[in-house]
Amino acid sequence: MPAINAIEKDFNLPRDNQHLLARKSGGGKVTIATLGSHCSLQVLKGAKDEGFRTLLVCEKRRLELYRRFGFIDEILEVESFSDIMDVRCRKRLKQTNAVLIPHGTLISQMKSDEIEKIETPIFGNKWIMRWEADRELKEKLMNEAGLRTPRTVKSKDEISGLCIVKLHGAAGGRGYYLAWNKESFEEGARRLIVQKAIQSESELYIQEFVRGVPVYLQYFYSPVTGELELLGIDRRYESDIDGIGRIPAKQQLAAGVEPSYNVIGNIPLVLRESLLDEVYKMGDKFVRASERLVPPGMPGPFCLEGVYDREGKFTTFEFSARIVAGTNLYLDGSPYSGLLYDDPMSMGRRIAREVKIAIRKGKLGKIVT
Ligand code: AMP
Repeated sequence: MPAINAIEKDFNLPRDNQHLLARKSGGGKVTIATLGSHCSLQVLKGAKDEGFRTLLVCEKRRLELYRRFGFIDEILEVESFSDIMDVRCRKRLKQTNAVLIPHGTLISQMKSDEIEKIETPIFGNKWIMRWEADRELKEKLMNEAGLRTPRTVKSKDEISGLCIVKLHGAAGGRGYYLAWNKESFEEGARRLIVQKAIQSESELYIQEFVRGVPVYLQYFYSPVTGELELLGIDRRYESDIDGIGRIPAKQQLAAGVEPSYNVIGNIPLVLRESLLDEVYKMGDKFVRASERLVPPGMPGPFCLEGVYDREGKFTTFEFSARIVAGTNLYLDGSPYSGLLYDDPMSMGRRIAREVKIAIRKGKLGKIVT
């Protein structure tokens, strides 16, 4: 893991003495850094609450927004987020002894091999980001975990029944559409080509549409304690599929309404308590599978995303191998984090606490890559 080696080298630390990092850096203690977008406010507020120095890598156009928040100690201005690879940024992140917290913006704006090349220690497993971004690897990991998943439809000729057609990467549901036969698939693909969202049909991924209610399970796994925690649950508020019920059927048909699944916000949710045991089991299976397929596994936050059907069975259609934006709901803790912590524990704060504990126990190598 080159990032850790870099930290050790900077501070002349042998590999098993990472706990000296905190002391060695003394005044220059660890800084929690992230990109200005997605859930950065929550992450940096949580880091500040845990006593860390905070740094935001911020695009010029968003400076005005982020300057409003007193818990951000330093703003590193960039033209675009990919500048994080530039000498100036790398130098500053190194000087500040930064641990970078990845989120959806990092995944959507940078390619997997670029992320893997980032020298700054990344919280969690940066190698698993590739498995999140690539549909085939994603499917492989979910199968390895033994999760129930929707059927993948290999070609448009095999479409039978309602399907959802997706773009690759963390697109936040943008451009997704429904297809029920070859013609409806082709029509949707043509629309995306005209909109320049894709260049050809081969960029699309067809999946069985699972009927039920969508639910997002927000977990945190600590390799330091070996515990899996469920810290929150949400559902997404998507435009315009969630607004379509406001248009009566007659007008929907007359206007030829085509729904999209673009995430606009998140809505809090609690599950029937009888479902929670299975939620923990699924999370555990995911952690174990990622340890087998993508070492060091799944340290930190992740999310299983799926649909509960009318029998109360969960089908996982996606995972996110890092903090999700739905955790922004629970800045002051959630109905689930309240069962585990007396402090108001957001996911951002939980990350910072893990860094703190790992430094104290000399186990930073277990939580960053
Ligand atoms: P995603 O970006 O993959 O999380 O998906 C965006 C939205 O599309 C979800 O919140 C669901 O509403 C919907 N969705 C994705 N995959 C499926 C599926 N296989 N069956 C039903 N709905 C889905």
